[in-house]
Amino acid sequence: MSSFTFDEADIVIVGAGLFGLTIAQQVVEHTFARVQIIDIRNHIGGNAYSYFDDETGAEIHKYGAHLFHTSSKVVWDYVNRFTKFTHYTHRVFATHSGVVYPLPINLGTINQFFNKSYTPEQAKRLIEQQAGELAGKNPENLNDKGISLIGRPLYEAFIKNYTAKQWQTDPSELPADIITRLPVRFNYDNRYFKDTWEGLPVDGYTAWFKRMIDHDRIRVSLQTDFFDENQPFNKDTLNSSGKPVVYTGPIDKYFDYCLGQLQWRTVDFKEVRYDEADHFGCPVMNFSDADVPYTRAIEFKNFNPERQDSMNPSKTVVWQEYSRFAEPDDEPYYPINTHEDKLLYQQYMQLSQSENNTVFGGRLGTYKYYDMHQVIATALHSFEHEVKLLLH
Ligand code: FAD
Ligand code: UDP
Repeated sequence: MSSFTFDEADIVIVGAGLFGLTIAQQVVEHTFARVQIIDIRNHIGGNAYSYFDDETGAEIHKYGAHLFHTSSKVVWDYVNRFTKFTHYTHRVFATHSGVVYPLPINLGTINQFFNKSYTPEQAKRLIEQQAGELAGKNPENLNDKGISLIGRPLYEAFIKNYTAKQWQTDPSELPADIITRLPVRFNYDNRYFKDTWEGLPVDGYTAWFKRMIDHDRIRVSLQTDFFDENQPFNKDTLNSSGKPVVYTGPIDKYFDYCLGQLQWRTVDFKEVRYDEADHFGCPVMNFSDADVPYTRAIEFKNFNPERQDSMNPSKTVVWQEYSRFAEPDDEPYYPINTHEDKLLYQQYMQLSQSENNTVFGGRLGTYKYYDMHQVIATALHSFEHEVKLLLH
C-alpha cells in the first residue's frame, strides 16, 4: 500500500469499505484521475473484511457474518467482474427451549412448534386467528408487526427475546420495518434471503476487494485518520484546497458532532474454540431465549463446505455475538434510527449540502442500514450523478 503526494491525487476517498472501493474503481474506469484512498483501519474492505484463521482454516468475517445477496442484475454483473461466487445458500436455525427449529419462520417451524402437520392453508388460518388480537389495526411498531405476521405464540418464542437482546429497546418502541426484513413462509422453503442471487466470494472477501482496486492510478494509505492534521490528506487541508473528497465515515463526526450524536448499536464478539470438526452443523445458530445472553453464534467453517480440504478436521471456531448500544469509541454497526435520530440526520444532511467538494456516502456517511449490494448500487449511482461531476 502506498500513497500519492497531495498534488498528484485528483480525488481523495475516505474509507476503504465497499462504497469507497466502488467509487475508486469507477473513477479509474471512467476518467483519467488518480485516486488516493485513506482508511483509519489497518486493512481494506471496511466491515466486510475477512481473514483466514491459521488453526482451523476458516475464513473469519472480522466484523460479523457477511453473506452476499442481491436481486439487482446490475450489481450482480458488477461484482462478478471481480470474483466468482460459491453456491452457498444462507440458512439459519434457532434454538428455543432446548429444541432446534428452522428459520425464517416457515411451515417447518410452525408444524414443529405446534407438533402438527398443517397444510399451508391450515397454517395460514391458524396464524390469522392468533394474530386476530390486532385485527383492523395498522401495526406501526415491531411488537404489533411481529404479532400480526406470525401470531403471539410464535412471536414470543422466536422474536420477542431475540429482539430484546439485539436492540435492548422495548419492541413496541422499535420501527416495524426491522422485522419486515425477515420473510414468513407457508411452505417448507427455509432460504433466509429472498433475492435472486446469493453466494460467497470463492477466494474470500479480501481477494475480491483487492481486485477492485488493482490499478496503478489507485493508492491506499492505511492507519490514516481523516481528522489527523499530521497526515497530508486531512479534512482541513483538503477543504481549503478544494480537492474532491468522498467521505464514508460517520456524518456527525465530520461536523464534530456540532448538533449532537447519532445513535448506533455495536456488537461484541466472544470467540470459542472447540476440539471438534463441527460444533453446530450449520453456519449460524440463533438463540431465541432470554437465558442465553448472546443473540447468535457463527461457526465460520460451515460457510465454506467447498474448502473442506484446507480446513482442520478436528478444530472449529465459533463467535458469539453480544449486541449493545455503541459508546463514542465503539464501532458503529446498526443505526438505531429513532425519531430523534432521523431528525438529527436530516439536519446533518442539510449541512453536508454546503460542503461543495465533498460527497457523503455509505452506511456511516448516510446513517442508513444498507446491505453490501445496496451500498454498491448507491456508490454506482453516486459516481454517475455526483462524483463524476466534481472531476470535470
Ligand atoms: P464500511 O464498511 O463501514 O466502511 C467505512 C470505512 O470508513 C471503514 O473502513 C472505516 O474504517 C473508514 N473510516 C471511518 N472513519 C474514518 C476516518 N476518520 N478516517 C479514515 N477512514 C475512516 N451486508 C450484507 O450484504 N450481508 C450481510 O450478511 C451483512 N452482515 C452484516 C453484519 C454486521 C454485523 C454489520 C455491521 C453489517 C453487515 N452488512 C451486511 C452490511 C455491510 O457491512 C455494509 O453494507 C458495508 O460494509 C458498508 O460499506 P461502507 O463502505 O458503506 O461502510
Ligand atoms: N429477529 C428475531 N429473531 C431471529 C432473527 C431475527 O427476532 O431469530 C428479528 C430481530 O429483531 C432482528 C431482525 O429480526 O433485528 C432482523 O433480523 P436479521 O437476521 O435480518 O438481522 P441482522 O442480520 O441484520 O442482524
